Amino acid sequence: MSPFWNKVLQRIVGPTELTPEQCWQLVMPFGRSPYSHRYAASVIIARVQFISFIFAILVPLWAIVDLLVFELHTALWLLAMRMSAAIGFACLALPREMSLDHPYRQALIMLVTLMLIPSAFYLASLMVLHPETTVGFEAVMIRFYAFMPIIVLGGLAIFPLTILEIVLLSLPMLGAALIGLMLKGMSLPFEEHVIALWCMLMMTGVSIFSGMSQSLYMETLVRRVMTDPLTGTFSRRSGSETLELIFNLSKTTKQSLALAFFDLDHFKRINDTFGHEAGDKTLQQAVTHLRAALRQGDTLVRWGGEEFVVILPNMAANQLQGFIARLTDHGLGETPDGHKLTVSVGIAERIADKINNWQTLIEVADRRMYQAKHQGRHRAVLPGDVVIMLAEDPKPQSPDES
Ligand code: GH3
Ligand code: MG
Ligand code: MG
Repeated sequence: MSPFWNKVLQRIVGPTELTPEQCWQLVMPFGRSPYSHRYAASVIIARVQFISFIFAILVPLWAIVDLLVFELHTALWLLAMRMSAAIGFACLALPREMSLDHPYRQALIMLVTLMLIPSAFYLASLMVLHPETTVGFEAVMIRFYAFMPIIVLGGLAIFPLTILEIVLLSLPMLGAALIGLMLKGMSLPFEEHVIALWCMLMMTGVSIFSGMSQSLYMETLVRRVMTDPLTGTFSRRSGSETLELIFNLSKTTKQSLALAFFDLDHFKRINDTFGHEAGDKTLQQAVTHLRAALRQGDTLVRWGGEEFVVILPNMAANQLQGFIARLTDHGLGETPDGHKLTVSVGIAERIADKINNWQTLIEVADRRMYQAKHQGRHRAVLPGDVVIMLAEDPKPQSPDES
């Protein structure tokens, strides 16, 4: 992104340096991290439920005003519509667990439903309200009904959404309003409908702006809270939360899940010989190398000082040697004096090790990492205590050979 556009976006959306990837994430939801998706989903679900709860109460209550203002036949129709809408809102407001595997899909389905209810209500109201035959307070009330889509579209502004999502979510209400325009004269004079449509487009614009800003702040905040500032990997806290989530998911789906515990060898020496700053640079460089050896869905966590944990979903015990081969191919970079940086690795796998909770997965991998240290470092210990030297060409060894 050119510095000019970055400056413009910074002024409009927020005072944060935006990468092209982040700008893209303001347009479409696909590039977001799973953690941000989950966080956004929890915010959207909580807000949908809160609004639905309020509407489930207020929408039927407003029937009292209808009964006072409209003739009985119209008021009863409106009451029936209000009760149907209230049932829809009440269903959305019911307490529910967030989906483990597809929380964002669940949030969007709830949000689409929330948008469909007033759209349907608005369309139905067009059928029963006749402005040409009304005067006084009744006419004012009908105008209030006709402006409902504007309020609904403005309501989208409270959700952390991307441009694409807001445009798509606005469609049912905009569509309903267009139908209203085609049925010209049934609810409002033509010019007033055009003004209403213009206001709706403006409201959609405001919602896009607000949704984008919220998305950006949320993503920035989540990233800051979740990542370790030195290496950019997940922090121990967010790593534990992610592991718990992935572990439970792998149990539900009966998929394999491996975890590798890394501890860099003789790292104190680097600090003592070349200073802490050089040690920091070596750590950053090790992370860059490690990342290159990982797949897209793997998660890298800085567990402590120079200890890292890699969460490897859908990696069975028989695939671990391939993982080690990728690791040795990429290496971990060099020490400040040009020697190869080495590491001791312990790996556990949920199914092969018959592990029932994420804490034990860590414990077993940690224990194997110590085994690797005791056996001479620069090696990996796998399930079944298989030892692999982290040389250029990894060859399995039995524990007594090493
Ligand atoms: P071993 O092979 O047994 O693991 O030896 P080691 O020297 O690596 O020992 P250990 O793992 O116990 O020590 C880790 C050292 O890593 C201690 C600390 O000085 C250093 N360290 C931890 N965090 C950081 C950091 O953020 N920056 C730097 N430069 N050094 C760190
Ligand atoms: Mg250590
Ligand atoms: Mg160490």
